[in-house]
Amino acid sequence: MRRTMDCGALRAEHDGQQVTLSGWVNRRRDLGGLVFVDLRDHGGMSQVVALPERADVFAQAERLRSEYVVAVRGTVRLRPEGQRTKRLASGAVELVAEAIEVLAEADTPPFPLDGSVDAAEVNEDLRLRHRYLDLRRPAALAPLRLRHLVTKAIWDFLDREGFLHVETPLLTRSPPEGARDYVVPARERPGYVYALPQSPQLFKQMLMVAGVERYFQIARCFRDEDLRADRQPDFPQLDLEMAFVDVDDVLSLNEALMAYVVQAATGAHVATPFPRLGYRDAMDRYGSDKPDLRFGLELVDLDGLFADTGLRAFRAALDAGGAVRGLHLRAAQATNLSRRDIEGLEAHAKRYGAHGLAWLRRSDDGFTGPLAKALTEHEREALGRMASDAGDLLLLVAGPWATACTALGAVRLRLREQLQLPLDTSAPSFAWVLDFPLFEHDEAGAWTSMHHPFTSPRETDLARLEQDPASVRAKAYDLVMDGFEVAGGSIRIHRRDVQERVFAVLGMDSEEARSRFGFFLDALRFGAPPHGGIAWGLDRLVMLLAGARSLRDVIAFPKNQRGVDPLTNAPAPADPAQWAELGLALAGEGATSAAATTESTS
Ligand code: ASP
Repeated sequence: MRRTMDCGALRAEHDGQQVTLSGWVNRRRDLGGLVFVDLRDHGGMSQVVALPERADVFAQAERLRSEYVVAVRGTVRLRPEGQRTKRLASGAVELVAEAIEVLAEADTPPFPLDGSVDAAEVNEDLRLRHRYLDLRRPAALAPLRLRHLVTKAIWDFLDREGFLHVETPLLTRSPPEGARDYVVPARERPGYVYALPQSPQLFKQMLMVAGVERYFQIARCFRDEDLRADRQPDFPQLDLEMAFVDVDDVLSLNEALMAYVVQAATGAHVATPFPRLGYRDAMDRYGSDKPDLRFGLELVDLDGLFADTGLRAFRAALDAGGAVRGLHLRAAQATNLSRRDIEGLEAHAKRYGAHGLAWLRRSDDGFTGPLAKALTEHEREALGRMASDAGDLLLLVAGPWATACTALGAVRLRLREQLQLPLDTSAPSFAWVLDFPLFEHDEAGAWTSMHHPFTSPRETDLARLEQDPASVRAKAYDLVMDGFEVAGGSIRIHRRDVQERVFAVLGMDSEEARSRFGFFLDALRFGAPPHGGIAWGLDRLVMLLAGARSLRDVIAFPKNQRGVDPLTNAPAPADPAQWAELGLALAGEGATSAAATTESTS
């Protein structure tokens, strides 16, 4: 039996026609002497009914179980009045079975797929272990369809704009993107490894040297880093690079691309150009370099107000060049926050490095709260002008600038959930963050790149590169969507002398630079055009467009938060023969434990 149409396509207009459907048994019900089967395929669902007068077909229908694969031939009829349903697009009709063929039987699935149980209530590892079943749920498949539309729109747009899709190698040497490399031992050369790329950064730059001028790739990237946050060890990026451009060119191309993709994938209209914020401004006002602009509640700069303060913690922070930042909640919002809620917010601020979260509640004639008595007259007055209504609440953090901003920014986001602040969700909210510093201090106090070492400093700051690295701004940009960083990039260094100077500030002497990046420094000797680009995190973008809660929901075969794929059970212990072949031996404790354990997900 060959299918003649999709299950979801049956409509009233097919009344009386003979058709053949095939698909999976979503559910079978025996009711009032009839057998009903909901048949599901990629296009939707239809109801099949077996009547007792066709005894052979009826007997076959009675034997069907959930998830059997069947083909059914029959005649379409209008469902009796009162049995029509809007729940299904095909809900006005049913197929009266005249022949049923079982194409494959199925064991009882480990969790129901018929919609009777909410997927969120099923253990996620169990779903991922049987992901091929999980994806039979229309709600699980929908994000993959959306993903397809996003990818197609990217291709369509960039093709029209003259971009060339170029693939770059996976077994390679990896450019530093702030994570550890995954390495692959090279069997033919004992002691040598390939690295899987953290990004195609240097290849795309060399494509610019090669004269490709407009490159893109949906590129697989690999980063060995903390997976607790919602991350995957391997993930795709939309990676692109353009020659003879400056910041504005890259931004406007990406705005048009993003607007096209969102429209094509979801129908939503995105206004361009996107708002732009400086990094300092974003930190000062939102306490984040990926600010959620869908609601207000901006941080207030209180450095001036507390300039002469005697409050010990504030004094110490300001004397050390730090900052005091506040959040002002209106009485109507603040009334929903109990002491205990504020304690919870303080614990949250501490997780982001703050020593504490001070609070002041406006009363009829002043303020209450632990600090209230120690305020000077001037402070009380100035704060009173800001928080002018009884019940208004001020939340304050003092500390080093970045810590004070970040901690209060985290409190701001927590309040978004806790107070259910209204968000404008009619279309995604995009913004560029610009003017990042080129360098930041790492934990050991050395300079590291805030993006990556190939990011161009602003020409105007170049003279200060060695003397005052902290003041040098990067020609870098991040794209923020609904409070998540969805893309980041920069104009690159295209001159070898500047690249060498940046390496030197990063503590790389010329010998080390040569040994790690000699091939790239060589390329810069042969005439590199000015160039720049960006990379988008595709999983994150699709997750936000799909309104999904986790990256795992938009990936066909994701790994869990321990980096394990519950379906294949990767990573698996290495076979000793494999080790020997690679000329490797495991040192120390790992040697025994790796051989003995397989990560089990059951
Ligand atoms: N290679 C960068 C990254 O993966 C993106 C870029 O600078 O284009 O984050």
